[in-house]
Amino acid sequence: MNARGALFRVSVALAAALALAGGVRALRPMPDVSESLYLFGTMVEIEIHGVDDATARAAIAAVDAHLETLHRDWHAWRPGELESLNAAIAAGAPFTVDAPMAAVLTQGRALACASDGLFDPAIGALVEAWGFHADTLPEGDPPPAAEIARLVAAHPRMTDLTISGREVRSSNPAVQLDLGAYAKGAALDLAEADLRAAGITDAVLNAGGGVQVMGRHGARPWRVAIRDPFAWGVVAALELQPGESLHTSGNYERYLEAGGLRFSHILDPRSGRPVTDIVSVSVLAQNGALADAAATALSVAGAKDWPRIAAQMGVENVLMITGAGEIFATPAMRARLAPVGGDFPAPVSLVDLPKVSAPRCD
Ligand code: AMP
Ligand code: MG
Repeated sequence: MNARGALFRVSVALAAALALAGGVRALRPMPDVSESLYLFGTMVEIEIHGVDDATARAAIAAVDAHLETLHRDWHAWRPGELESLNAAIAAGAPFTVDAPMAAVLTQGRALACASDGLFDPAIGALVEAWGFHADTLPEGDPPPAAEIARLVAAHPRMTDLTISGREVRSSNPAVQLDLGAYAKGAALDLAEADLRAAGITDAVLNAGGGVQVMGRHGARPWRVAIRDPFAWGVVAALELQPGESLHTSGNYERYLEAGGLRFSHILDPRSGRPVTDIVSVSVLAQNGALADAAATALSVAGAKDWPRIAAQMGVENVLMITGAGEIFATPAMRARLAPVGGDFPAPVSLVDLPKVSAPRCD
């Protein structure tokens, strides 16, 4: 697993599924079925509980095919639907997308609005300028300040998009879409629906930095851990309830290394520059795209502003680790965390979220 595997399952209890075999009330444990697939530029681990092998493998094959299609359609820099849409936007032309793309863009637009544009998938040109449109870590110098200033001054925003049915148009040709900050969460939401359609009720999907659970692991909830960004180990473990997603954004995952400095792949759309202060943000929510987008937005918001942005986005469960190693959590998140092997790496400071009303963007 690559460095984006910020979340990984620890100790899942060996719960046994009860099966009725041949009319005899025999208690036969049904083994879990798990497969690792390389999708979305990362390892996706799918583990299914409580069904026979053939049912599980067929469900995994359906997810595999679907995620491969999404990866191609949503890719930010390889030929595919998103690249065609970006070309149309640059040319000032409307473009008709397929229904899943219209849905993910509509959700991304609403999430960008709620985050005050700190999460904004319209900043693809900035992401590219920093060298992050590549499968490997970028090398070389940061982009010249004048180029950053030009890209920021063009103010590309999701709210520049008008999505009517499946037709997308942008009032701003500087919009270039890069769904990287929430595509994984959105894709896991769709994969969950695929598994459900295939008759699966209990499963965990784990895709470097994002995990989504369905149902339970036998008698117990699924258990996951949040990786320690400073050391090889975990910050805490927690049990995920049916339908929950946990996404972590980390500075340490992808970066440009230049002049002895590391530049994060998470950019602040206001300055066009990488975030510096926050090392890792984990968000737990009922929806994968929301958790993923919020983890990115709160990394940008930083130590001062994240409680307001979290409240605006409607997420209650947040864990933040700063560059100084401080750990902050909302009371709701703190109540879910269990230390692993002793104590938390640092005291967990509680932060209440303010009462705010969500911004409106029409
Ligand atoms: P994540 O790991 O979920 O935080 O997503 C980071 C990826 O999202 C980057 O590699 C970029 O492709 C893209 N990105 C970077 N900064 C932002 C931002 N402020 N808003 C939206 N997408 C971003
Ligand atoms: Mg994200």
